[in-house]
Amino acid sequence: MAKEKSIAKELKNDLFYTKKNAGLIIKDDEIKKSESFSEKYKNFLNKAKTEREAIEYTLEVVKEKGFIEYKKGMALNKGDKIYLNNRGKAIILAVIGENSIGNGFNICAAHIDSPRIDLKQCPLYEDSELALFKTHYYGGIKKYQWTAIPLALHGVVVKSNGTIVKVNIGEDEEDPVFCVTDLLPHLAEEQMKRPLAQGIKGEELNILIGSVPFKDNGESELVKLNIMKILNQKYDITEADFLSAELEAVPAFKAKDIGFDRSMIGAYGHDDRVCAFTALQAILKCNEPKTTSVVILTDKEETGSDGNTGLKSAYLKYFLYDLAEDLGGKGRDVISRSKCLSADVNAAFDPTFPEVLEKRNAAHINYGVVVTKFTGSRGKAGTSDASAEYVAFVRNLFDKNKIVWQTGELGRVDLGGGGTVAAYVANLNIDTIDVGVPVLSMHAPFEVVSKIDVYMTYKAFSAFLNDKS
Ligand code: MN
Ligand code: MN
Repeated sequence: MAKEKSIAKELKNDLFYTKKNAGLIIKDDEIKKSESFSEKYKNFLNKAKTEREAIEYTLEVVKEKGFIEYKKGMALNKGDKIYLNNRGKAIILAVIGENSIGNGFNICAAHIDSPRIDLKQCPLYEDSELALFKTHYYGGIKKYQWTAIPLALHGVVVKSNGTIVKVNIGEDEEDPVFCVTDLLPHLAEEQMKRPLAQGIKGEELNILIGSVPFKDNGESELVKLNIMKILNQKYDITEADFLSAELEAVPAFKAKDIGFDRSMIGAYGHDDRVCAFTALQAILKCNEPKTTSVVILTDKEETGSDGNTGLKSAYLKYFLYDLAEDLGGKGRDVISRSKCLSADVNAAFDPTFPEVLEKRNAAHINYGVVVTKFTGSRGKAGTSDASAEYVAFVRNLFDKNKIVWQTGELGRVDLGGGGTVAAYVANLNIDTIDVGVPVLSMHAPFEVVSKIDVYMTYKAFSAFLNDKS
């Protein structure tokens, strides 16, 4: 009996697929590396809370590492490092490979926009002697989560003469912050009967910004006037300048370790700055790739990738065609031979809400980087669904580089779903698959990832960009 049992155990070992918790299988030095990597990542999260700030950060570090601005027609040699800045909101980085065009390009595409609350174009008003901003939320948020938390204001005001005024207020310890108010429970009896989706409605996301009137008798809107006077002194703007502004309210808190064991990171905007940061670090260490490596940090994913800085824009195609031609190839041929990791987060299994994920196919915290063959919803609609051949390539690449990885899906069948930029890259005739970090509380003001998963994702992008096969 005992012998039979052990045969079964052996057979199971040979024949069954079991995924393992990275905490049980990786070496202590890798855990240490994941911790120091996380410190750098937290610093990035605190510095780059918007797409524009992520681009500023990226430009600074890539220029330091010798990346130069790409111009169509420039002479390029292996090892050359280039960047293309798309309007300060999206960027493409590339390191020219040894085999410059034969294998196409190896592309990692992440996004640097995150759900947030944008100001409307006529935002400033006074009501009942309080000054407030009207807003329109950006991306998929649960609106009630954005009330009663400290908010910082980031963005730009572009004056009609073209002068750009940068705004970043609420991040320094000394700065004031802002907030969306919510009803006290004592008087929320009617509000509490609303369905959760309407607990706070879109037009109730009004940001409180001041309360003191300008000292003068007999005039109306004196609180608003006082705020406008402060803004005029600080930024040299008038109310009309809001018309051409992009101001974004984001959570004012900093990235923090989570847990007694400090194994996780809580922060605003892991989706998708966690993949942007890991892909950026991977290409910074990519010196002599065999295949030309490309990292795209794009904007507008959270609103559907439309617009000239989103990945449905021709900027991606133009860049890939231009680079292919500059390296002596034909755009369509090089693109068709290219491979892409769509670097984006996926939902991690949450034991408090087990019913939304199907356990066998869901991603788990600490089980490593998650590979998602398909996303979409209702019969895989809207997904590019990577081919089995391409999944096999990724599987082999990760296994041979000792990367702890797992498979994942975006929820139970017919329960909801979503998408990433994968389909837009795949539509260019590029083999594409989603690879990224599992996240708890995705799209909340404070999202959670595991340090080991972040580090494994960095290793995965590194292995891909440096692939010698
Ligand atoms: Mn995302
Ligand atoms: Mn998202």
